[in-house]
Amino acid sequence: MKPSSLLILVFLSQATAFDVIREAFKLIDENVNPCDNFYRHACPLRSIKGRYIEDAYGSKLFKLKAKTAEAVWNNLAIQETFERAHYKEFPSLHIFIAKLFQKQCETEHVTTEEKGKFLELIQETWFNHKNSECVYSECLGALASDRNCTRASELLESKLYYRPWDEFTTTLRVFFIQTQNNLEGINAILDDDLREGVSNVKNIVETMKKKLLTWIQQTPWVINNEAIESIMAEAEQVHHYDNFAKTFRYNLNLLLKLEQSYLKCLRDLDDTEKFRVFCMLAATNNIDFKKISMDFFTFYNAVNGHPNLYFSHLFYDMAKNVESPAALLGSVGFIAGHELSHSLIEDANQPELIPYFSNDSMQCIQNQYQTTCDSFKETSCGANDNQIDENGSDILGIQLAYSLFEDIYSERKKDEYIQLRYNNTITNEQMFFYSLAFISCKGEPGTQSEMDPHSPWNIRINAVVQHPGFRDAFNCDVNSPMVQSFNDQCVIFGEKAPLTRK
Ligand SMILES: [Zn+2]
Repeated sequence: MKPSSLLILVFLSQATAFDVIREAFKLIDENVNPCDNFYRHACPLRSIKGRYIEDAYGSKLFKLKAKTAEAVWNNLAIQETFERAHYKEFPSLHIFIAKLFQKQCETEHVTTEEKGKFLELIQETWFNHKNSECVYSECLGALASDRNCTRASELLESKLYYRPWDEFTTTLRVFFIQTQNNLEGINAILDDDLREGVSNVKNIVETMKKKLLTWIQQTPWVINNEAIESIMAEAEQVHHYDNFAKTFRYNLNLLLKLEQSYLKCLRDLDDTEKFRVFCMLAATNNIDFKKISMDFFTFYNAVNGHPNLYFSHLFYDMAKNVESPAALLGSVGFIAGHELSHSLIEDANQPELIPYFSNDSMQCIQNQYQTTCDSFKETSCGANDNQIDENGSDILGIQLAYSLFEDIYSERKKDEYIQLRYNNTITNEQMFFYSLAFISCKGEPGTQSEMDPHSPWNIRINAVVQHPGFRDAFNCDVNSPMVQSFNDQCVIFGEKAPLTRK
């Protein structure tokens, strides 16, 4: 290709794509030396209100939401009933239903047959079986013939048991959120045609997995504890989940079936708030809430639901539009490495997925986080036991991402990628580390909340850049705070990992 046509291509791709990492260079504080406090050099305190990525994608996300306002999954009659119901004014569930029956029973011209139908619905909803299949005290049909409505309703109440509304409403809320997130997430991928980004993320995960499998086989503590097979098997199971057709069909079907059975139930009953609430209860009866998982979503997050890994559509957007592979590996690559690592990092005292984990590695990880906390604490931080999984996944995650970066760049690590103002140049290797800080950039001081297994971002980033590549990339002085806060590099898997004999 001639240089001139290459130029046109670059120009075209820059004109159409939004490169969130390139944009982020405006955040940098040139007055803070990267070797003094890398995170706050790349992401100054109060430079931004919330989180950089959410802010940068704010208007795109807003437009996306506006576009799906009319979508069928956002306009269900059953959800309207769910949102509008005055649960606080209702008695507990079983009394609510008994009183509703009494009301129907006392209504003029209501036939025994109509009462029987309602009782059948109650029976189905409450005991999960039909009239003909009911068992002993769970058979409600006979109540339809009782002319004394108060007595029949009291008897009905005694057959039902206490259930709080909260239990039901919380589950249903989660159901709506998860199904709609799936549909919105997939819609975002298709609407922006991010399929190329999806396959890029999948490639990153698969390449990392191969790398990890070779590392595992070389790891002394794995070999010495005869754990190669089980740990390899664990790693082999992990996959990037990308079956949007399956998830789309499944979730849309669920919502539409729910809507149908809600409307069918209402056909036989009065269209009042209380009967609508009852039909909502009846419609949800057949949903197996445990079968719903959130595979796709538009908010900024990624999840290891072992063996599947799930990513926000924002990562797919980045994987399509971030131009430099170094920047992509430092951002999406780090997150992918982190999620993959979740399947293989354990608290050595109580492993969950793999049978054995190195105590030395665990101590190394926690020591690094504590040292980083001691050096860079803002509001609060500290290496607690509940953070081992997250901290370790950060450290293994960056090692995987950096290793892929080295494979691609080898001799070109120090080549200039872009030139910033004041003639500062950014090399490919620096780009890798910068993008790590950009995607996690938060303007508020780092604060540790006790229940959160994640360390604050200022600690996470300054801890994971305890990597020989970082010192090298920024030529950090031995006495600089970043180098001073580096402990020994924690190699978890690979030849140089700890021995830990039995
Ligand atoms: Zn995590």
